[in-house]
Amino acid sequence: MPKPNPRHPNFPIPGGLELRAKGWRQEALLRLLENVLSVGEDPENLIVYAALGKAARNWAAHDAIVRTLKSMDEDQTLIIQSGKPVGLLKTHDKAPLVIMANCNIVGQWAKAEYFYELQEKGLICWGGLTAGAWQYIGSQGVIQGTYEIFMRIAEKRFGGSLEGRFILTAGLGGMGGAQPLAGRMAGAAILVVDIDPERVAKRKAIGFLDAVAPDLDTALQMIDAAVSEKRAVSIGLVGNAADIYPQIVKRGTVPDIVSDQTSAHDLVYGYVPKGMSLEEVRRLRTEGQGQLMAASRASIADHVRAMLTLQEKGAEVFDNGNLIRTQAREGGVANAFDIPIFTEAYLRPLFARAIGPFRWMALSGEESDIARIDDLVLELFPDNHIVTNWIRLARENIPFEGLPARIAWLGHGERTQLALGVNELVAKGELAGPVAFSRDHLDAGAMAHPNIMTENMKDGSDAIADWPLINAMTMCSSMADLVVIHSGGGGYAGYMTSAGVTIVADGTAAAAERIAHAITNDTSLGIIRYADAGYDEAIEAAEEHGVPHIKLDAS
Ligand code: NAD
Repeated sequence: MPKPNPRHPNFPIPGGLELRAKGWRQEALLRLLENVLSVGEDPENLIVYAALGKAARNWAAHDAIVRTLKSMDEDQTLIIQSGKPVGLLKTHDKAPLVIMANCNIVGQWAKAEYFYELQEKGLICWGGLTAGAWQYIGSQGVIQGTYEIFMRIAEKRFGGSLEGRFILTAGLGGMGGAQPLAGRMAGAAILVVDIDPERVAKRKAIGFLDAVAPDLDTALQMIDAAVSEKRAVSIGLVGNAADIYPQIVKRGTVPDIVSDQTSAHDLVYGYVPKGMSLEEVRRLRTEGQGQLMAASRASIADHVRAMLTLQEKGAEVFDNGNLIRTQAREGGVANAFDIPIFTEAYLRPLFARAIGPFRWMALSGEESDIARIDDLVLELFPDNHIVTNWIRLARENIPFEGLPARIAWLGHGERTQLALGVNELVAKGELAGPVAFSRDHLDAGAMAHPNIMTENMKDGSDAIADWPLINAMTMCSSMADLVVIHSGGGGYAGYMTSAGVTIVADGTAAAAERIAHAITNDTSLGIIRYADAGYDEAIEAAEEHGVPHIKLDAS
């Protein structure tokens, strides 16, 4: 039975063992579609996160997808083009049930303005990374990513701990809302600024923010007190980051860590320029897009100048994947890229070993299934410190949203081992129902994004989008259940290409075969991509795990 959803009453959380489709594979994908809406930011408009990241193009497309998933056979493949179902082809029962391509625009035309035009005509939609691919699990995915970034900074700069450290950041939306909890879990005192009082109230209501400060002075006093007592705390503040950051600079306060997760990638529907009310911005979104883009870019320039000043004064400053540096550079801040991107600065050695954000969703809706899988992870990987630490923290701190789910940074071999173990638990009836596995698109071999994932690659291959395309084709030929290619990225056009994959563990031998092929090949490609770019960690991992990376003769 679906469960009530207090946050979005019209979007119940899927669950139970009753099948509405002809098999668990189809039912699983249907539940994942329902799930991204149940945990989304604005499901009435099909928006899941990242300003315009949608689960389907429009309601007619959504309804047709649901109808098709319910009626299709296992030897058919549903084709989805930018959130709209366009065909149901006869394939075979080892082929993907769903393949998608979302928001791919030919290079010369890949500009934000043209994307908006196509969207207006109803021809395209932005699928975010995991929204259009029905893989989003609420804030947890990004909580762990953000937590791992903070912990890598702790190791790099602060002797392994963020106790008594001050983190300043902004943005409390679908993704950014994870920052206060991740900061508190990492032991820091974190201040998060957002212009929208509703977003701030929402994060306070779910406990991610401990308190909301009435003004900047009070906020800084609360942070000071927590820092001197080495107490972890998360404080929210309503304000425009482009005002607040320069004010902090003026006061001479230097946080230990500074970042930002406002939706700076979108100058029209995301970022709110300083000096404008939310009402004014909402009006300009339809009536004055050009004016709004210019104002957003100017505001982002001030915002980033303040971040650069704090960097000069010794703060650890990083871009958290929202294109704020790119927009600032276009707004005249020539040295915006002195701020590093988090992937290159902290996570690349993990990606080079294909260690990345792997995730699983309990399709039964039973939280006990995730608890059992948590135990399995701890049994299988007792020496993997990152994962055991995370599972312990996640159990204590992460509220379930939508279908109970877990994310953990697992690598090559580990992911396959876990998924096969879970498939066995399903077969033995030790779990209430099947489990779906997927991963973030921001994963080793799955994304080309020269301003996020692949910035400053060792061999200069930052902008080459062959890798995610190869990844998607490999997933189709490795029996995955759903395979997707997304483009666009922040800015909605021309910034990135990525691939996503979902595999359903329904306890059958066929599922074990799909897991063994798809998950192993996915991480193998990750290692191959980084080995090809010359990363020692990847070359060693390829040798250690016997990943078949082809090397050319020296001549
Ligand atoms: P969102 O649209 O749900 O939320 C953005 C928030 O920023 C809103 O609450 C809005 O009120 C606030 N905001 C906008 N302008 C502001 C300003 N000037 N000052 C203060 N607050 C302001 O977006 P989201 O899903 O939270 O994603 C945020 C950004 O992070 C996006 O650019 C997204 O693409 C990016 N992102 C990066 C990664 C990653 O690679 N690490 C992962 C997911 C999302």
